[in-house]
Amino acid sequence: MKKGNYKLTVGWLYPDLMSTYGDRGNIICFKRRSEWRNIKTEVFPIEVGLSNKHIENCDLIIGGGAQDRQQEIVIKDLLSKKTVYKKLFKRGIPGLFVCGSPQLLGHYYMTANGKKLPGLDIFDFVTKHFGNNKPRCIGNTAGELIPNSKFQIPNSKKTIVGFENHGGRTYLGSNCKPFAKVLKGYGNNGEDGYEGALYNNVIACYYHGPFLPKNPHIADWLITKSLEIKYEKSIELEPLDDALEWRAHEFILHKLGVR
Ligand code: GLN
Repeated sequence: MKKGNYKLTVGWLYPDLMSTYGDRGNIICFKRRSEWRNIKTEVFPIEVGLSNKHIENCDLIIGGGAQDRQQEIVIKDLLSKKTVYKKLFKRGIPGLFVCGSPQLLGHYYMTANGKKLPGLDIFDFVTKHFGNNKPRCIGNTAGELIPNSKFQIPNSKKTIVGFENHGGRTYLGSNCKPFAKVLKGYGNNGEDGYEGALYNNVIACYYHGPFLPKNPHIADWLITKSLEIKYEKSIELEPLDDALEWRAHEFILHKLGVR
């Protein structure tokens, strides 16, 4: 990618309420990997009460996980922005949402206390928490990406690794593409063998960790897509020395007996 005056604004969804299990590390990783390629990167905190126009200025949105309580705190504000998010993601603005945030982007999230939180209907899926007597889905986890016409990661590894901790189980509808196949762990629900979901350039997944540092191929896919949508041209990023990142990735695969 020729040196240019590229700039990206990353919208960070409710940073003080939705960043469980190190998910703020995804923001740090995205910013560093962009800046190492001389892409000026600004992080914009999307707080409760923010006006729509600030959200429309974001070139991608990243959201982390949260306990049911924080999800109940943000849902009214999130629903008030349903139109602007649907418009952005339909246009192809990328997103990465981990665990508690994507659960609010489906049709609904049924909390552990049986409260049905309406979702933004961006993903064709529903999430149900079957109460605190049902064991949570916890542990190191690995998956194999499921490419589709919109989601291709050429010349790179096809595995993803992370850490999951969720009570909610997500069930994909007929119009929803999965992000990956479960190799180890529970994935969306511990039943159907799928992990996460894809809508246009938006990724939903259950991988905390944080996710991006040990999955540099996904971080670079998000950077590339953000630039391509913003500047309306094909982008090829300068490769980085990811030896350490891939060692961490392979370590988890080995630890889980996948390699
Ligand atoms: N509260 C949600 C659940 O228990 C999400 C948890 C999380 O984000 N780690 O499934």
